[in-house]
Amino acid sequence: MPPAPKSNQTRKSEYKDKEKPTQIRFSNITAAKAVADAVRTSLGPRGMDKMIQASNGDVTITNDGATILKQMMVLHPAAKMLVELSKAQDVEAGDGTTTVVVIAGSLLDACSKLLAKGIHPTSISEAFQKASAKSVEILESIVKPLELSDRESLLKSASTSLNSKVVSQYSGILSPIAVDAVLKVINPSTATNVDLRDIKVVKKIGGTIEDTELIEGLVFNQKSAGTGGPNRVEKAKVGLIQFCVSPPKTDMDNSVVVSDYSQMDRVLREERQYILDIVKKIKKAGCNVLLIQKSVLRDAVSDLALHFFAKMKIMVIKDIERDDVEFVCKGLGCRPIASLDHFIPENLGSADLFEEIQTGPSKIVKVTGIPIQGKTMTVLIRGSNKLVLEEADRSIHDALCVIRCLVKKKALIAGGGAPETELSLQLMDHANSLTGVEQYCFRAFAEALEVIPYTLAENAGLNPIATVTELRNRHAKGEKTAGINVRKGAITNILEENVVQPLLVSTSAIHLASETVRSIMKIDDIVNCVR
Ligand code: ADP
Ligand code: MG
Repeated sequence: MPPAPKSNQTRKSEYKDKEKPTQIRFSNITAAKAVADAVRTSLGPRGMDKMIQASNGDVTITNDGATILKQMMVLHPAAKMLVELSKAQDVEAGDGTTTVVVIAGSLLDACSKLLAKGIHPTSISEAFQKASAKSVEILESIVKPLELSDRESLLKSASTSLNSKVVSQYSGILSPIAVDAVLKVINPSTATNVDLRDIKVVKKIGGTIEDTELIEGLVFNQKSAGTGGPNRVEKAKVGLIQFCVSPPKTDMDNSVVVSDYSQMDRVLREERQYILDIVKKIKKAGCNVLLIQKSVLRDAVSDLALHFFAKMKIMVIKDIERDDVEFVCKGLGCRPIASLDHFIPENLGSADLFEEIQTGPSKIVKVTGIPIQGKTMTVLIRGSNKLVLEEADRSIHDALCVIRCLVKKKALIAGGGAPETELSLQLMDHANSLTGVEQYCFRAFAEALEVIPYTLAENAGLNPIATVTELRNRHAKGEKTAGINVRKGAITNILEENVVQPLLVSTSAIHLASETVRSIMKIDDIVNCVR
């Protein structure tokens, strides 16, 4: 006969085991929601900015959700999933990185209420999946189709995304730069995607954001190397080399012992001849601008070589990053040259003008008049300090991504909480055709989406409950584009305020957020391991 206490214990541990998954689920939800709450205040045109201080003293000021989260020290694994979510939205759409996390937070909130009612996580998960698919369908039915020739709409979309940035007062200058940069690297009548690597963003301290310009050509963020060489080359013939113009270094343990002066003279003479041969060969190919890829092993170009190049009136730009080689070659129509034997005229590119110019405290080399125009563009951002420059860079990135979204999917929707309200309403309607638990979960999903207008109102200093209620009523009356007009502090037709955004940003946010929420719901244990 088994002793009584043992069976008692078994029962207790069984009970505990049933409790554990629920506890884990709730603690995951709480941790992930904390992340969403951290970025909520930065949503929208009246959102606040964050100052991020790193342990090494670096400071970042930003309003960009992905940037805030990337730099935040997040320890809880479920919370990390929201950081990943924001990154995923950044890759997929490039904008809406705060929105996606705020929506996920709200959906998680809904989940915890549904779980508390005793609904099984799998039922919630399945209903949310259907609701997310239905949402995309509804959004696609309320879009405004767009032609890429409609420059006005493109400008409006770019400035809507810039509205909520630290640099929003410059959106009048930055929006056309983003729109033109994209339109010039694609063929607007056929393009279905944009390779943003064709648009290089160069940051240069000095001046203000207003001095930011779009250059149909290239910019090298450095002065030409050496002294005495030309600082202006017309009708440039450009070669990009990936080998060094400096004496080869001996192996570490193979030192050369020079015992007397005549030997030393010989070594120097040989070195001189070696360099001179290279320089002559380069000159012979007709090259007058030489670009040298950065070398990690040794000096890519010696002082002696620079001296010869200067004498032969060849402009030298060194330290071209490996990652930039493709962009530079595409822009100038040259081919990277890996050895001296391949330094032939066919591998050179050309441009009308290479010119060294002073910008702020330092110099850059600007290249204009490239023969194959419209393949690459450069945005030269100017700003008075590093913090502003970096935030401007991130903001332009978002604006470029917005235009890329519109090239990929030529459809616009309103902003300012209008699409989420409309979506919520139509989902509620649809829920009426469902039954039981599914209907209940669908409603919770629909309601959770109202977090966007709610937060936009809250951040703009409006009464969130009154605003969301009025929005709901106006949409119920058929005003599909009624949204929060932050300028007037009222609800108006938001299209008249020119607040529009790409469909792709919204559909991607809802799709990715609900996917993450579903995977959080499916986790019932956290297992620690040593690695
Ligand atoms: P995200 O990082 O998600 O892009 P933002 O801070 O850029 O977050 O805010 C985006 C939200 O702000 C969108 O819902 C958009 O519709 C809204 N929004 C942008 N400009 C305005 C505006 N002028 N009036 C009202 N809402 C706006
Ligand atoms: Mg944005």
